[in-house]
Amino acid sequence: MLRRILTCLPLAIASLALASPPALAQACGPGTLGTSRVMAVSPGSNAHFGTKSYDRSLPLQPREVVLTFDDGPLPGPTDSVLDSLRRECVKATFFLIGSNAAANPGYVRRIAAEGHTLANHSMTHPWTMRTIPHDVAWKNILDGEAAIEAAAGRKIAPFFRFPGFADTPGLLDALDKRGIATFGTDLWASDWNVMRADTQLALVMGRLRKNNGGIVLFHDTKKQTAEMLPGFLAALKQEGFRVVHITP
Ligand SMILES: [Zn+2]
Repeated sequence: MLRRILTCLPLAIASLALASPPALAQACGPGTLGTSRVMAVSPGSNAHFGTKSYDRSLPLQPREVVLTFDDGPLPGPTDSVLDSLRRECVKATFFLIGSNAAANPGYVRRIAAEGHTLANHSMTHPWTMRTIPHDVAWKNILDGEAAIEAAAGRKIAPFFRFPGFADTPGLLDALDKRGIATFGTDLWASDWNVMRADTQLALVMGRLRKNNGGIVLFHDTKKQTAEMLPGFLAALKQEGFRVVHITP
């Protein structure tokens, strides 16, 4: 990691940046993919996004992409994912598991410090929320939010993604009333299946071309995804896709 950082920076600012990780995020130069725009997403009734589960996506233009990473943070793969995003000046949204956030608070703070959006993916990732009582599931959602906020030392975005997309009408309604937007996705990398990084890259790029952009789901807990990400960001740049960063 160190060597990769050093090779993309003049030495004079590299030593400065290494002492101060957030400053490194500003040290991106020309030729990086970058983040083309920031989209503020308002919660409220029917703020449910992602065509795999709901009837609409975000109001994206053709070839715009929203990058989302679920299930972290996990030391190892999450480091690599953050390094890759930072090198290309790309901002993403991390749907964290509360128990992972509590175990790795430094990672939560790094994700926030590097300008990414922190969001909630439940406390323990129950499989699934459709098969447990409503009150138990709701508490798991609230506990996740609290654990991530405690680790971050700040409020997180009012964004939630159900584990396995397994929503219920009652939980959706409760999220709406709490002012939390629910995210499904438009496409995914199928990175829960073991495959080579180059196979996964071809798979997700094929889906992205077919959909002409959209919300993309990855898992920053997967080594193969971490390995694939530099190639993926290069492919976005080469094919004229633009990254949109979602914020509250
Ligand atoms: Zn998940």
